[in-house]
Amino acid sequence: MIDNLLAGNAKFVSTEFAPNAEYYHALAAQQRPKVLWIGCSDSRVSEHQMTDSKPGTMFVHRNVANIVAFNDVNISAILEYGVVHLKIEDIIVCGHTRCGGIAAIEDGVHENYIADWLCIATGAKEAADRIARERGLNREQKLSVLTEENVKLQIKHLRNLALIKNMHAKGSVPRIHGWLYRVETGTVDVLVDGRGGAPRSGSPAKALKSAVGASPKKPAAKKARKK
Ligand SMILES: [Zn+2]
Repeated sequence: MIDNLLAGNAKFVSTEFAPNAEYYHALAAQQRPKVLWIGCSDSRVSEHQMTDSKPGTMFVHRNVANIVAFNDVNISAILEYGVVHLKIEDIIVCGHTRCGGIAAIEDGVHENYIADWLCIATGAKEAADRIARERGLNREQKLSVLTEENVKLQIKHLRNLALIKNMHAKGSVPRIHGWLYRVETGTVDVLVDGRGGAPRSGSPAKALKSAVGASPKKPAAKKARKK
């Protein structure tokens, strides 16, 4: 596998880096990412690939289940560097379908550090439990709702961090977006649209529609606008 990765790097240099040398040389001098990405560590969820973006587009933080921990110096430092020094104006919190972390939240995993980490998503589990009871959802439908509720909860955490709260007290940046990446189709659903006006969250009804699968004629959610 490691040989494959090194061979892949040689291919990247010859087919991507060299033909775009001007772009990469400017990037080498200074990065100016436009987006701060908070996503899951899952190997199937590659933020640059899914958005067809070049290196230099996004400043990235990934962890198990795309969590915004309010007591985590790691993410706090990334946020501060991103929005204060790099002056990034858009933050995307992106969850994804078939997330092992989300399944662990649902199943109540007891493994030491993983359990401690996933405690931060307890509020999403409570919301999904309530929606599942009201609507009689099966496990797959409930996991889908939980995935969406988790994105919304982590955005709530993000908005409550003093750094972000103080910035929002003065203006509209950083704009915050909530996305759901579907590993089965490669598509993105916009759960929280920060592109203009007041951010709005996906309703439980919308979440349910996503959970049970959208009909081909009526997509459950809009596609993300390509940058
Ligand atoms: Zn995941």
